[in-house]
Amino acid sequence: MASDPGCSQWSAPRPTHLYLATTNAHKVSEFQALADAMGGELQMSAASPMPAVPEDTGTFIGNARQKARALQSLLPKTAWVLADDSGVCVDALGGAPGVESAYFAGPQHDSAANLNKLTAVMQAVPLGQRGASFRCVLVLLGPDGREYVAEGRCEGTLRLTPVGGYGFGYDPLFEPIGYTSTYAELDQPTKNKISHRGRAWAELLTQLHSS
Ligand code: IMP
Repeated sequence: MASDPGCSQWSAPRPTHLYLATTNAHKVSEFQALADAMGGELQMSAASPMPAVPEDTGTFIGNARQKARALQSLLPKTAWVLADDSGVCVDALGGAPGVESAYFAGPQHDSAANLNKLTAVMQAVPLGQRGASFRCVLVLLGPDGREYVAEGRCEGTLRLTPVGGYGFGYDPLFEPIGYTSTYAELDQPTKNKISHRGRAWAELLTQLHSS
């Protein structure tokens, strides 16, 4: 009997498990929730160990591809690997910190210092000129050499002071358009519905479904 493609979110080849090329526990948690929403069809695990990868390509896609390839080279040939590179692009700063978001306050990768620096440098920027967007590029590598690339974006503005206890990174400063809360005031399911990462994920599923 022919199988019914409508029964699955996937066309062949069908990943049932993804290795996440990240050491960021917050990203892992957000991806896990996105996968869980598929009703058990897809398992995920964080890379262990994740090799150190220089994020030096200057682009989200370049960095994501480097992370995915570095992890894939350590795994069995049948493995599917997903990498995320993301950041916040601020209009008043000409798009910075962008691809450098993780290192805005220096190479030590300190999230609190990054948030404090962005808050400080935006202090004098008036309301009306505080536009920003979060961007995420996902690279999924399949065992057959296939590569999928998906991008998600969320537009918003930056608050004058950080607010909220959920999430990570710059979440307390970013208010998505259409909301009166920051990312850090939204619970994870709500953030995942509208976030750059959630949108990139949805785009990735669309591509897989139609491939
Ligand atoms: P990378 O993708 O490992 O280069 O790091 C991305 C950096 O961008 C993180 O360290 C955060 O500072 C920031 N970032 C990316 N996604 C988010 C998010 O969903 N919320 C808050 N900050 C984020």
